[in-house]
Amino acid sequence: MTVIAANLQAVRERIARAAQAAGRDPESVALLAVSKTWPAEAVRAAAAAGQHAFGENYVQEGVDKAAALAALGLEWHFIGPLQSNKTRQVANAFHWVHSIDRLKIAERLSAQRDAQRSPLNVCIQVNVSGEDTKSGVMPHEARELAHAVAALPRLRLRGLMCIPEPTADEALLRRRFAMLRALKAELVAEGLALDTLSMGMSHDIEAAIAEGATIVRVGTAIFGARAVAGAQAG
Ligand SMILES: *Cc1c(COP(=O)(O)O)cnc(C)c1O
Repeated sequence: MTVIAANLQAVRERIARAAQAAGRDPESVALLAVSKTWPAEAVRAAAAAGQHAFGENYVQEGVDKAAALAALGLEWHFIGPLQSNKTRQVANAFHWVHSIDRLKIAERLSAQRDAQRSPLNVCIQVNVSGEDTKSGVMPHEARELAHAVAALPRLRLRGLMCIPEPTADEALLRRRFAMLRALKAELVAEGLALDTLSMGMSHDIEAAIAEGATIVRVGTAIFGARAVAGAQAG
């Protein structure tokens, strides 16, 4: 068994235990393997161990990897900050975009998505920590953006995504994730057909699953520690 296969197995077991502890079906939590900065061969090893969905933060890197591995039929999720001059590439190389935080980006993705393909799945990224430096729409602005995005023809709004501030405070993390869950429940009550809470990373998947995560985004626990950030650009 490769290291990546063993790590994947361990992460799947963590997900199953956390789901059971929360009284949830483990099948209700999907694992997104975040392969940013890792070469196509690492993705290939994870795919050989049964992993189907992969997340990328940098447009060119993700587009290149998806093209190199097209024969594997994998599912690609864009989870990083997205600038408007990069939307055209993202609209058709990826199956999902988790990081919508402006209507302009959503409108461009909708206009640029091939008409022959199924709509692009998207999530709105919400800034649950209220830090000015983080990307994501502020919680009080999320409703208006969600309704506008849901009306775009070539997008399918699936739910909400968040990245809480790094903290070892489990109770604080739980509150951040609970805020995202409550926001999704409000939007569902208003008639939006949302089924996704994209939350939880290597160090906090348990807290996220306890609060209802349906997609956890895990990089380090599968592929290992990444090299120092800054070597890559969007
Ligand atoms: C890098 C990244 C992850 C994965 O983080 P790990 O701590 O390595 O599991 C998840 N989500 C987003 C948006 C990321 O940028």
